[in-house]
Amino acid sequence: LQSRLSDVFGKLTRRGALSEADVQAALREVRVALLEADVALPVVKDFVERVRDKAVGQEVLRSVTPGQQVVKIVNDELVEMLGGAGAQGDSGTGLDLAATPPVPVMLVGLQGSGKTTSCGKIAVRLKDRERKKVLMASLDVRRPAAQQQLAVLGQQAGVATLPIVPGEPPVAIARRAMTTGALEGYDVVLLDTAGRLAIDEALMAEVAEVREAVKPRETLLVADAMTGQDAVNVAQAFNERVGVTGIVLTRVDGDARGGAALSMRAVTGRPIKLLGVGEKLDALEAFHPDRVASRILGMGDIVSLVERAAETIEAEEAEKLARKLEKGKFDLDDMAQQLRQLTKMGGLSQLMNLLPGTPKIQQQMKNAKIDDKMVKRQIAIISSMTAQERRHPEVIKASRRQRIAAGSGTSVPEVNKLLKQFADASKMMKRVQKLGKKGLARAGLP
Ligand code: GDP
Ligand code: MG
Repeated sequence: LQSRLSDVFGKLTRRGALSEADVQAALREVRVALLEADVALPVVKDFVERVRDKAVGQEVLRSVTPGQQVVKIVNDELVEMLGGAGAQGDSGTGLDLAATPPVPVMLVGLQGSGKTTSCGKIAVRLKDRERKKVLMASLDVRRPAAQQQLAVLGQQAGVATLPIVPGEPPVAIARRAMTTGALEGYDVVLLDTAGRLAIDEALMAEVAEVREAVKPRETLLVADAMTGQDAVNVAQAFNERVGVTGIVLTRVDGDARGGAALSMRAVTGRPIKLLGVGEKLDALEAFHPDRVASRILGMGDIVSLVERAAETIEAEEAEKLARKLEKGKFDLDDMAQQLRQLTKMGGLSQLMNLLPGTPKIQQQMKNAKIDDKMVKRQIAIISSMTAQERRHPEVIKASRRQRIAAGSGTSVPEVNKLLKQFADASKMMKRVQKLGKKGLARAGLP
């Protein structure tokens, strides 16, 4: 499939605006790729429609092929639909626990989807990384030994579980868990509910009743990544009946391409919060829309194509800047652009890691307190200037410096320092310019 896609994208090499036919041809293949990744049909249709609307007529960037352009649109749209890039950090659980403790969190889903396992994994993470005191309670009174299963997990995880009272109905267990949680000073109460092999009314009624009783802060739908066309029904049923606040996708360690992530996200509009990537208690990962997007599309080569396309654009920008330098024109807009490129490339520290012989330089930069945070502040300072000030920095006198400092949340000395740096850089640029073209090459500039 990968090569088939590359073929189609490869064919679209003309330049100009994307024609309907270009987009149509590429999207036929995208449609197949999504279906093969087990994205539910209605979701596929909707997605393809959205991308078509966006793509047709879009200007193809110079130095980028129309094929690459379509790839970028497809990829971006997928990431966007999955929840946007960099939506979440890696450290914690990403759960909303902003309520008076004990905060109830309920896990729902079909039988065997991984609720009990995920309950243990989340408890461990809350305990170890978010320093929460967690109580787990199993409301699964249907499956024999389900409550014991959670108790064993709790022992392994070093997390407390609610003592089992034989014959107690689910709602009563949930209430007792909350009372115990309050009395014994727990921060979070995780409620592991029972599942069924398929959606049925008795299951929904039971879960809805528990929800009414404890009003969970989060209701997490736990779903197997292998869930195919059924994902829409499962997500819809749970969301309508009990109101899902987030999704935990399990068995992402298997062969599944993860189409269920897109289906469930599209149907519920709720974020995918965590991924289960194994049976062990630590096999839990934060959700990265960009990674899952490329897994669903199943085309790592296309993603790198997109990246290369972006690099091409950056190279063009660099060329433009070089031409400006040759003419001896360099203003604060150019400086801001350079700083932004620096952060885009992964920040100074990343960049430093790539350079040869840098430990010493790194130390020097540390001593000079040049770090990523500072670069961001510098960008903020320049952003707080007017267009005229950026082009003619000499007009920036005391009162303007005060305004700029206030506007960027920095200080006047910082603004002064930036202007001094800019003045030094301009002087250097002028000197380089005097050396002429040969000199430029010698100075290592393009
Ligand atoms: P429940 O019925 O929803 O509570 O599901 P369980 O938590 O009991 O899990 C059912 C089975 O799936 C168990 O054998 C788990 O070890 C396994 N399982 C759960 N999550 C994952 C996962 O992320 N990856 C893998 N490979 N197995 C998992
Ligand atoms: Mg269970």
